[in-house]
Amino acid sequence: MNRREWIKQLTMAGTAASLAGSSDAAFGLGAQPSGSSSLTKLETEIVRLKLRHTWTTVMSSSEYRDVLYVRYTRDGVTGHGEGAPIVRYKEDAKSAQAAVQSAVELISRGDPWQFEKLMAEVFERIEGQYAAKAAVDIALMDWVGQKLGVPLYRYFGLDPADAPVTTFSIGIDTPAITRQKVREAAPYPVLKIKVGLDTDEATIAAVRSVTEKPLRVDANEGWRDKEEAVRKINWLATQGVEFVEQPMPASMLEETRWVHERVHLPLIADEACEHASDIPRLVGAYDGVNIKLDKCGGIMQAYRMIQIARSLGLKTMLGCMISSSVSVTAAAHLSPLVDYADLDGNLLIANDPFSGVKVEGGKLTLPDRPGLGLKPASASG
Ligand code: MG
Repeated sequence: MNRREWIKQLTMAGTAASLAGSSDAAFGLGAQPSGSSSLTKLETEIVRLKLRHTWTTVMSSSEYRDVLYVRYTRDGVTGHGEGAPIVRYKEDAKSAQAAVQSAVELISRGDPWQFEKLMAEVFERIEGQYAAKAAVDIALMDWVGQKLGVPLYRYFGLDPADAPVTTFSIGIDTPAITRQKVREAAPYPVLKIKVGLDTDEATIAAVRSVTEKPLRVDANEGWRDKEEAVRKINWLATQGVEFVEQPMPASMLEETRWVHERVHLPLIADEACEHASDIPRLVGAYDGVNIKLDKCGGIMQAYRMIQIARSLGLKTMLGCMISSSVSVTAAAHLSPLVDYADLDGNLLIANDPFSGVKVEGGKLTLPDRPGLGLKPASASG
Protein backbone atom coordinates (compact mmCIF):
# COMPACT_ATOMS: atom_id res chain seq x y z
CA MET A 1 0.00 0.00 0.00
CA ASN A 2 1.48 3.38 -0.95
CA ARG A 3 1.16 6.51 1.15
CA ARG A 4 -1.77 7.89 -0.84
CA GLU A 5 -3.81 4.70 -0.47
CA TRP A 6 -2.93 4.60 3.20
CA ILE A 7 -4.19 8.15 3.78
CA LYS A 8 -7.35 7.39 1.76
CA GLN A 9 -8.06 4.35 3.90
CA LEU A 10 -7.52 6.27 7.10
CA THR A 11 -10.00 8.92 5.90
CA MET A 12 -12.59 6.31 4.99
CA ALA A 13 -12.12 4.52 8.31
CA GLY A 14 -12.72 7.80 10.12
CA THR A 15 -15.95 8.37 8.19
CA ALA A 16 -17.14 4.88 8.94
CA ALA A 17 -16.33 5.21 12.63
CA SER A 18 -18.35 8.42 12.91
CA LEU A 19 -21.28 6.81 11.10
CA ALA A 20 -21.10 3.69 13.23
CA GLY A 21 -21.63 5.83 16.30
CA SER A 22 -24.67 7.59 14.91
CA SER A 23 -28.27 6.47 15.17
CA ASP A 24 -28.93 6.04 11.45
CA ALA A 25 -27.80 2.44 11.49
CA ALA A 26 -24.65 2.93 9.44
CA PHE A 27 -21.88 0.43 9.89
CA GLY A 28 -18.25 0.36 8.90
CA LEU A 29 -15.90 -2.55 9.24
CA GLY A 30 -12.29 -1.89 8.38
CA ALA A 31 -10.88 -5.39 8.69
CA GLN A 32 -11.00 -7.18 5.36
CA PRO A 33 -9.57 -10.49 4.20
CA SER A 34 -5.86 -10.20 3.49
CA GLY A 35 -5.03 -8.70 0.12
CA SER A 36 -8.12 -6.48 0.13
CA SER A 37 -7.55 -2.73 0.25
CA SER A 38 -11.24 -1.97 0.62
CA LEU A 39 -13.50 -1.00 3.43
CA THR A 40 -17.10 -2.18 3.34
CA LYS A 41 -19.93 -0.10 4.67
CA LEU A 42 -23.46 -1.38 5.01
CA GLU A 43 -26.21 1.09 5.81
CA THR A 44 -29.91 0.57 6.38
CA GLU A 45 -32.66 3.15 6.29
CA ILE A 46 -36.43 2.97 6.61
CA VAL A 47 -38.01 5.05 3.84
CA ARG A 48 -41.68 6.08 3.85
CA LEU A 49 -43.23 5.90 0.38
CA LYS A 50 -46.35 8.03 -0.06
CA LEU A 51 -49.09 6.53 -2.20
CA ARG A 52 -50.77 8.53 -4.95
CA HIS A 53 -54.12 6.96 -4.02
CA THR A 54 -55.23 5.16 -0.87
CA TRP A 55 -54.37 1.56 -1.71
CA THR A 56 -56.94 -1.09 -0.86
CA THR A 57 -56.80 -4.84 -1.44
CA VAL A 58 -58.47 -7.71 0.38
CA MET A 59 -55.62 -7.56 2.91
CA SER A 60 -55.28 -3.91 3.84
CA SER A 61 -55.83 -0.25 3.11
CA SER A 62 -53.12 2.40 3.45
CA GLU A 63 -51.86 5.88 2.54
CA TYR A 64 -48.15 5.03 2.71
CA ARG A 65 -45.75 2.11 2.93
CA ASP A 66 -42.48 1.88 4.83
CA VAL A 67 -39.72 0.02 3.01
CA LEU A 68 -36.13 -0.84 3.91
CA TYR A 69 -33.24 0.59 1.92
CA VAL A 70 -29.82 -1.07 2.09
CA ARG A 71 -26.66 0.60 0.80
CA TYR A 72 -23.58 -1.56 0.28
CA THR A 73 -20.42 0.48 -0.28
CA ARG A 74 -17.05 -1.02 -1.11
CA ASP A 75 -14.11 0.09 -3.25
CA GLY A 76 -15.79 3.43 -3.87
CA VAL A 77 -18.94 1.92 -5.39
CA THR A 78 -22.37 1.87 -3.70
CA GLY A 79 -24.96 -0.78 -4.50
CA HIS A 80 -28.57 0.07 -3.64
CA GLY A 81 -31.13 -2.44 -2.40
CA GLU A 82 -34.73 -2.26 -1.24
CA GLY A 83 -37.14 -4.60 0.46
CA ALA A 84 -40.86 -4.06 0.99
CA PRO A 85 -41.80 -6.08 4.10
CA ILE A 86 -44.99 -8.11 3.71
CA VAL A 87 -47.53 -8.00 6.54
CA ARG A 88 -48.93 -11.42 5.56
CA TYR A 89 -45.57 -12.94 6.50
CA LYS A 90 -45.37 -10.94 9.76
CA GLU A 91 -42.72 -8.58 8.43
CA ASP A 92 -42.47 -4.84 8.90
CA ALA A 93 -39.80 -2.24 8.18
CA LYS A 94 -38.39 -2.32 11.71
CA SER A 95 -38.12 -6.11 11.84
CA ALA A 96 -36.52 -6.09 8.38
CA GLN A 97 -34.00 -3.47 9.48
CA ALA A 98 -33.19 -5.45 12.64
CA ALA A 99 -32.70 -8.58 10.52
CA VAL A 100 -30.14 -6.89 8.26
CA GLN A 101 -28.41 -5.32 11.25
CA SER A 102 -28.05 -8.76 12.82
CA ALA A 103 -26.03 -9.82 9.78
CA VAL A 104 -23.99 -6.64 9.23
CA GLU A 105 -20.69 -8.15 10.25
CA LEU A 106 -21.25 -11.29 8.18
CA ILE A 107 -22.17 -9.26 5.08
CA SER A 108 -19.42 -6.68 5.54
CA ARG A 109 -16.69 -9.30 5.92
CA GLY A 110 -17.98 -11.47 3.06
CA ASP A 111 -16.66 -11.35 -0.50
CA PRO A 112 -19.29 -9.73 -2.78
CA TRP A 113 -17.78 -11.50 -5.81
CA GLN A 114 -18.84 -14.74 -4.11
CA PHE A 115 -22.40 -13.43 -3.78
CA GLU A 116 -23.91 -16.90 -4.12
CA LYS A 117 -22.01 -18.13 -1.07
CA LEU A 118 -22.49 -14.85 0.80
CA MET A 119 -26.27 -14.85 0.27
CA ALA A 120 -26.45 -18.53 1.30
CA GLU A 121 -24.84 -17.48 4.59
CA VAL A 122 -27.29 -14.58 4.94
CA PHE A 123 -30.21 -16.98 4.34
CA GLU A 124 -28.84 -19.27 7.02
CA ARG A 125 -28.31 -16.43 9.50
CA ILE A 126 -31.66 -14.64 9.05
CA GLU A 127 -34.85 -16.59 9.68
CA GLY A 128 -37.79 -15.45 7.52
CA GLN A 129 -37.59 -11.72 6.68
CA TYR A 130 -37.38 -12.28 2.94
CA ALA A 131 -37.83 -8.60 2.11
CA ALA A 132 -34.75 -7.85 4.21
CA LYS A 133 -32.82 -10.57 2.38
CA ALA A 134 -34.03 -9.16 -0.94
CA ALA A 135 -32.72 -5.71 0.01
CA VAL A 136 -29.25 -7.17 0.70
CA ASP A 137 -29.27 -9.31 -2.47
CA ILE A 138 -30.31 -6.37 -4.67
CA ALA A 139 -27.62 -4.11 -3.16
CA LEU A 140 -24.95 -6.78 -3.79
CA MET A 141 -26.08 -7.42 -7.37
CA ASP A 142 -26.20 -3.67 -8.09
CA TRP A 143 -22.64 -3.42 -6.75
CA VAL A 144 -21.45 -6.40 -8.83
CA GLY A 145 -23.04 -5.03 -12.02
CA GLN A 146 -21.48 -1.61 -11.45
CA LYS A 147 -18.04 -3.10 -10.80
CA LEU A 148 -18.30 -5.20 -13.97
CA GLY A 149 -19.59 -2.17 -15.89
CA VAL A 150 -22.64 -4.04 -17.26
CA PRO A 151 -26.40 -3.64 -16.72
CA LEU A 152 -27.82 -6.58 -14.78
CA TYR A 153 -29.91 -7.79 -17.73
CA ARG A 154 -26.66 -8.22 -19.65
CA TYR A 155 -25.06 -10.05 -16.73
CA PHE A 156 -27.95 -12.57 -17.03
CA GLY A 157 -27.55 -12.79 -20.82
CA LEU A 158 -30.93 -11.19 -21.60
CA ASP A 159 -32.18 -9.02 -24.45
CA PRO A 160 -33.84 -5.86 -23.08
CA ALA A 161 -36.06 -5.82 -26.20
CA ASP A 162 -37.76 -8.94 -24.78
CA ALA A 163 -38.98 -7.04 -21.69
CA PRO A 164 -42.77 -7.41 -21.54
CA VAL A 165 -45.59 -4.95 -21.15
CA THR A 166 -46.39 -4.26 -17.50
CA THR A 167 -49.87 -4.10 -16.12
CA PHE A 168 -50.96 -1.10 -14.11
CA SER A 169 -52.84 -2.05 -10.93
CA ILE A 170 -56.18 -0.64 -9.84
CA GLY A 171 -56.87 -1.17 -6.10
CA ILE A 172 -60.35 -1.80 -4.73
CA ASP A 173 -62.45 1.37 -4.52
CA THR A 174 -65.87 2.86 -5.16
CA PRO A 175 -67.14 2.68 -8.78
CA ALA A 176 -66.62 6.45 -9.22
CA ILE A 177 -63.00 6.37 -8.04
CA THR A 178 -62.36 3.15 -9.97
CA ARG A 179 -63.50 4.90 -13.16
CA GLN A 180 -61.24 7.86 -12.36
CA LYS A 181 -58.24 5.58 -11.74
CA VAL A 182 -58.87 3.71 -14.99
CA ARG A 183 -58.94 7.02 -16.89
CA GLU A 184 -55.64 8.04 -15.23
CA ALA A 185 -54.17 4.69 -16.35
CA ALA A 186 -54.60 5.67 -20.02
CA PRO A 187 -50.89 5.13 -20.85
CA TYR A 188 -51.01 1.47 -19.80
CA PRO A 189 -52.41 -1.05 -22.32
CA VAL A 190 -53.24 -3.81 -19.80
CA LEU A 191 -54.77 -3.29 -16.36
CA LYS A 192 -54.66 -5.48 -13.28
CA ILE A 193 -57.84 -5.17 -11.26
CA LYS A 194 -57.94 -6.07 -7.58
CA VAL A 195 -61.10 -7.92 -6.55
CA GLY A 196 -62.07 -10.43 -3.86
CA LEU A 197 -64.77 -8.56 -1.93
CA ASP A 198 -68.57 -8.46 -2.39
CA THR A 199 -68.18 -5.63 -4.90
CA ASP A 200 -66.42 -7.61 -7.65
CA GLU A 201 -69.14 -7.34 -10.32
CA ALA A 202 -69.58 -3.60 -9.65
CA THR A 203 -65.81 -3.08 -9.86
CA ILE A 204 -65.49 -4.84 -13.22
CA ALA A 205 -68.60 -3.03 -14.53
CA ALA A 206 -67.04 0.31 -13.51
CA VAL A 207 -63.80 -0.57 -15.33
CA ARG A 208 -65.66 -1.76 -18.43
CA SER A 209 -67.73 1.44 -18.52
CA VAL A 210 -64.47 3.32 -19.24
CA THR A 211 -62.20 0.96 -21.18
CA GLU A 212 -62.05 -2.04 -23.53
CA LYS A 213 -58.44 -2.90 -22.56
CA PRO A 214 -57.45 -6.46 -21.66
CA LEU A 215 -57.72 -7.02 -17.92
CA ARG A 216 -55.98 -9.31 -15.47
CA VAL A 217 -57.71 -9.92 -12.18
CA ASP A 218 -56.21 -10.51 -8.74
CA ALA A 219 -58.51 -11.87 -6.02
CA ASN A 220 -55.75 -11.97 -3.36
CA GLU A 221 -57.24 -15.20 -1.83
CA GLY A 222 -60.60 -13.47 -1.51
CA TRP A 223 -62.94 -16.27 -2.61
CA ARG A 224 -63.38 -19.02 -0.04
CA ASP A 225 -66.14 -21.02 -1.66
CA LYS A 226 -65.09 -23.14 -4.64
CA GLU A 227 -68.48 -22.93 -6.41
CA GLU A 228 -68.42 -19.14 -6.01
CA ALA A 229 -64.88 -19.07 -7.42
CA VAL A 230 -65.92 -21.08 -10.51
CA ARG A 231 -68.96 -18.85 -11.05
CA LYS A 232 -66.91 -15.64 -10.76
CA ILE A 233 -64.05 -16.86 -12.94
CA ASN A 234 -66.38 -18.06 -15.69
CA TRP A 235 -68.16 -14.69 -15.55
CA LEU A 236 -64.79 -12.88 -15.75
CA ALA A 237 -64.00 -14.96 -18.86
CA THR A 238 -66.87 -13.11 -20.57
CA GLN A 239 -65.42 -9.72 -19.55
CA GLY A 240 -62.16 -9.69 -21.52
CA VAL A 241 -60.07 -11.00 -18.63
CA GLU A 242 -56.81 -12.82 -19.51
CA PHE A 243 -56.18 -14.64 -16.23
CA VAL A 244 -57.06 -14.72 -12.55
CA GLU A 245 -54.45 -14.46 -9.84
CA GLN A 246 -54.82 -16.31 -6.52
CA PRO A 247 -58.60 -16.86 -6.56
CA MET A 248 -58.71 -18.83 -3.31
CA PRO A 249 -56.59 -18.93 -0.14
CA ALA A 250 -53.11 -20.38 -0.67
CA SER A 251 -53.91 -23.15 1.82
CA MET A 252 -56.87 -24.35 -0.29
CA LEU A 253 -54.75 -26.12 -2.90
CA GLU A 254 -57.11 -29.06 -3.48
CA GLU A 255 -60.11 -26.74 -3.82
CA THR A 256 -58.13 -24.65 -6.31
CA ARG A 257 -57.33 -27.82 -8.27
CA TRP A 258 -61.11 -28.53 -8.35
CA VAL A 259 -61.77 -25.00 -9.59
CA HIS A 260 -58.98 -25.28 -12.17
CA GLU A 261 -60.74 -28.25 -13.79
CA ARG A 262 -63.93 -26.21 -14.23
CA VAL A 263 -62.75 -22.87 -15.58
CA HIS A 264 -61.31 -21.71 -18.87
CA LEU A 265 -59.11 -18.87 -17.67
CA PRO A 266 -55.53 -19.52 -16.56
CA LEU A 267 -54.97 -19.34 -12.80
CA ILE A 268 -51.77 -17.75 -11.47
CA ALA A 269 -50.41 -18.50 -7.98
CA ASP A 270 -49.17 -15.56 -5.94
CA GLU A 271 -49.65 -16.08 -2.20
CA ALA A 272 -49.40 -19.85 -2.87
CA CYS A 273 -45.94 -19.39 -4.38
CA GLU A 274 -43.39 -17.85 -2.04
CA HIS A 275 -40.26 -19.91 -2.60
CA ALA A 276 -38.74 -22.27 -5.15
CA SER A 277 -39.79 -25.31 -3.12
CA ASP A 278 -43.47 -24.31 -3.41
CA ILE A 279 -43.53 -24.57 -7.20
CA PRO A 280 -43.74 -28.33 -7.98
CA ARG A 281 -46.93 -28.91 -5.96
CA LEU A 282 -48.74 -26.09 -7.79
CA VAL A 283 -48.74 -27.97 -11.11
CA GLY A 284 -52.31 -29.00 -11.96
CA ALA A 285 -53.90 -26.40 -9.69
CA TYR A 286 -52.38 -23.32 -11.31
CA ASP A 287 -51.12 -22.46 -14.79
CA GLY A 288 -48.43 -20.06 -13.68
CA VAL A 289 -46.65 -18.36 -10.80
CA ASN A 290 -46.20 -14.75 -9.73
CA ILE A 291 -42.63 -14.34 -8.48
CA LYS A 292 -41.70 -11.36 -6.31
CA LEU A 293 -38.27 -10.41 -5.01
CA ASP A 294 -39.74 -9.49 -1.62
CA LYS A 295 -41.40 -12.89 -1.21
CA CYS A 296 -38.45 -15.04 -2.25
CA GLY A 297 -35.46 -13.01 -1.04
CA GLY A 298 -33.97 -11.29 -4.06
CA ILE A 299 -32.81 -11.39 -7.66
CA MET A 300 -30.89 -14.67 -7.54
CA GLN A 301 -33.78 -16.53 -5.89
CA ALA A 302 -36.25 -15.08 -8.39
CA TYR A 303 -34.02 -16.16 -11.28
CA ARG A 304 -33.98 -19.69 -9.86
CA MET A 305 -37.76 -19.74 -9.48
CA ILE A 306 -38.31 -18.57 -13.05
CA GLN A 307 -36.14 -21.43 -14.34
CA ILE A 308 -37.89 -24.02 -12.15
CA ALA A 309 -41.37 -22.83 -13.13
CA ARG A 310 -40.48 -22.84 -16.83
CA SER A 311 -39.04 -26.34 -16.59
CA LEU A 312 -42.38 -27.50 -15.12
CA GLY A 313 -44.35 -25.94 -17.97
CA LEU A 314 -45.77 -23.10 -15.88
CA LYS A 315 -46.22 -19.55 -17.08
CA THR A 316 -44.05 -17.02 -15.28
CA MET A 317 -44.85 -13.59 -14.01
CA LEU A 318 -42.79 -11.03 -12.12
CA GLY A 319 -44.71 -8.96 -9.61
CA CYS A 320 -43.81 -6.46 -6.93
CA MET A 321 -45.03 -4.88 -3.76
CA ILE A 322 -45.54 -1.12 -3.42
CA SER A 323 -41.90 -0.13 -3.78
CA SER A 324 -39.67 2.54 -5.23
CA SER A 325 -37.62 2.26 -8.41
CA VAL A 326 -34.82 0.36 -6.63
CA SER A 327 -36.77 -2.86 -6.15
CA VAL A 328 -38.95 -2.52 -9.25
CA THR A 329 -35.90 -1.94 -11.48
CA ALA A 330 -34.17 -4.97 -9.94
CA ALA A 331 -37.12 -7.19 -10.90
CA ALA A 332 -37.37 -5.53 -14.32
CA HIS A 333 -33.83 -6.65 -15.20
CA LEU A 334 -35.14 -10.27 -15.12
CA SER A 335 -38.35 -9.42 -16.97
CA PRO A 336 -37.12 -10.46 -20.45
CA LEU A 337 -37.38 -14.03 -19.05
CA VAL A 338 -41.07 -13.96 -18.10
CA ASP A 339 -44.46 -14.15 -19.80
CA TYR A 340 -46.14 -11.42 -17.74
CA ALA A 341 -45.00 -8.44 -15.71
CA ASP A 342 -46.82 -6.56 -13.00
CA LEU A 343 -44.03 -4.14 -12.14
CA ASP A 344 -45.85 -0.94 -11.31
CA GLY A 345 -45.08 -0.44 -7.59
CA ASN A 346 -43.00 2.66 -8.33
CA LEU A 347 -45.79 4.14 -10.46
CA LEU A 348 -48.18 4.06 -7.50
CA ILE A 349 -46.03 6.30 -5.26
CA ALA A 350 -45.53 10.08 -5.23
CA ASN A 351 -42.01 10.39 -3.75
CA ASP A 352 -39.74 7.92 -5.54
CA PRO A 353 -36.12 8.81 -4.61
CA PHE A 354 -34.75 7.14 -7.77
CA SER A 355 -35.47 6.65 -11.43
CA GLY A 356 -34.58 3.41 -13.17
CA VAL A 357 -36.87 1.26 -15.31
CA LYS A 358 -39.33 3.30 -17.37
CA VAL A 359 -42.63 2.34 -18.95
CA GLU A 360 -42.96 3.39 -22.59
CA GLY A 361 -46.12 2.47 -24.44
CA GLY A 362 -46.83 0.10 -21.58
CA LYS A 363 -43.57 -1.78 -22.15
CA LEU A 364 -40.79 -1.96 -19.58
CA THR A 365 -37.70 -0.07 -20.80
CA LEU A 366 -34.58 -1.13 -18.93
CA PRO A 367 -31.81 1.35 -18.12
CA ASP A 368 -28.59 0.48 -19.97
CA ARG A 369 -26.32 1.84 -17.25
CA PRO A 370 -24.23 -0.59 -15.12
CA GLY A 371 -25.84 -2.55 -12.28
CA LEU A 372 -29.46 -1.58 -11.66
CA GLY A 373 -28.79 1.62 -13.62
CA LEU A 374 -30.42 3.91 -11.06
CA LYS A 375 -30.22 7.69 -11.02
CA PRO A 376 -31.47 10.13 -8.37
CA ALA A 377 -35.06 11.01 -9.26
CA SER A 378 -34.13 14.65 -9.87
CA ALA A 379 -31.56 13.75 -12.56
CA SER A 380 -32.82 14.11 -16.11
CA GLY A 381 -32.52 11.53 -18.90
MG1 MG B 1 -51.23 -10.87 -6.29
